[in-house]
Amino acid sequence: MQSSATQDSETSGAAVVVIGAGATGLSAAFWLAREGVDVLVLDKGIVGWEASGRNGGGCSHHASPLFAEEQRLWPQMDELLGYPTEFQPGRVRVALDERQMALYGRSVENATAQGFRAETLDAAGVRDLVPLAGEAVVGGYLWHFGGHANPHRTLQAYAWAMQDHGGRILQHTSVKGFATAGGRVTAVETDRGRIACDALVIAAGPQTGRLAAMLDVDVPMAAARAEMIVTEPLPLMPMGGIDGNGLYGRQTLRGNLAYGGGPHEWLELAGMTVPHRSATPLMRNISGRLADLFPKAAHAKIIRSWAGIIENTPDGRPVIERLTAPDNAVIATLSSVGFGLSPATGHAIRDLVVDGECDFADLSSFRLARFADLEPDWRERQGWMPLGEQAAA
Ligand SMILES: Cc1cc2nc3c(=O)[nH]c(=O)nc-3n(C[C@H](O)[C@H](O)[C@H](O)COP(=O)(O)OP(=O)(O)OC[C@H]3O[C@@H](n4cnc5c(N)ncnc54)[C@H](O)[C@@H]3O)c2cc1C
Repeated sequence: MQSSATQDSETSGAAVVVIGAGATGLSAAFWLAREGVDVLVLDKGIVGWEASGRNGGGCSHHASPLFAEEQRLWPQMDELLGYPTEFQPGRVRVALDERQMALYGRSVENATAQGFRAETLDAAGVRDLVPLAGEAVVGGYLWHFGGHANPHRTLQAYAWAMQDHGGRILQHTSVKGFATAGGRVTAVETDRGRIACDALVIAAGPQTGRLAAMLDVDVPMAAARAEMIVTEPLPLMPMGGIDGNGLYGRQTLRGNLAYGGGPHEWLELAGMTVPHRSATPLMRNISGRLADLFPKAAHAKIIRSWAGIIENTPDGRPVIERLTAPDNAVIATLSSVGFGLSPATGHAIRDLVVDGECDFADLSSFRLARFADLEPDWRERQGWMPLGEQAAA
């Protein structure tokens, strides 16, 4: 990824420092920069190297209070950013049995209750829209909402757009701590020196909890490793956004099937040495289910695969909150729905930083207060066990 920021220059500071050049941090920085706020994004690596550049590209989060804004913004993102995201609207959900049909029906009920449109498809209707589907299909749903985009294109678009508006990015700059005074964060300490700020946004994905702890704020999180596989290009289907059989993903504009979806492997982030590479058993699991979803593509070769780290909160919902102590910091970690929601999340963070509250959505369910009575052993209760311990068990 390219950045116009001079990597080796000293920086005296910025009005707003954003930690994390993922979808959340860059979108927030874009929304701030476009109205003239002096914003600087710091990342320990490069733009979009973590989950934001490794995900399924799905933009359909009907269970979120940011859903309406997500759906309003995606069709305009290319124009707003000035660069392509490859956003494609709509989605087909394919059911291979009655249990899947009932399960996927719940998301349709949820979205239609919020005013969005969907159609129930019989098996023939699914096969018309999904030529790679087979005889085992029992039916499905056509969503006239949601969609998918290309994560790499989107992350590059955010980065370029925020720089076009005067925002800056410092890559290879790791945040190690904070300076505070009078109940406010006054600077971030990095491995390249101290950077002063008037306001701070922590959008560091799975590392958000560790950074927040340096401000005495507890953000309960557990990290998990998830994988995606990509096939060789296949003839384009009428719609690229197709999922089912426990998989998420898309057909890219070039024709590749890019898919992922459980099982996840839990990770201990402290001192993590596990590379973001895929592992054969998980690849086999995903490719087996992909062949069941698209039997007419079962012959396709897998040409790429990778792993990414998902940031999980105990209830699987994001934390997006402007803190009261320190009172100039916003925390945002998305718990596995951060790519699709990113246009709306960035807008919400802009509101929290500039206005103190979000004026287009009720973010109360994203507050940390909901974890006040969390059991100390919540990770173990949810079956969380780091990879090393799994091997020993
Ligand atoms: C395989 C997979 C598939 C997924 N599919 C989807 C999907 O289809 N739809 C969807 O909406 N979501 C999906 N997700 C989840 C989504 O990718 C994440 O929720 C989202 O990318 C989180 O974005 P983020 O910017 O908050 O965090 P990240 O992308 O994790 O970015 C955080 C950034 O912070 C930086 N950072 C961390 N610590 C420091 C530090 N100390 N100093 C400086 N920088 C730091 C990191 O280097 C990183 O670049 C998927 C995730 C994976 C792994």
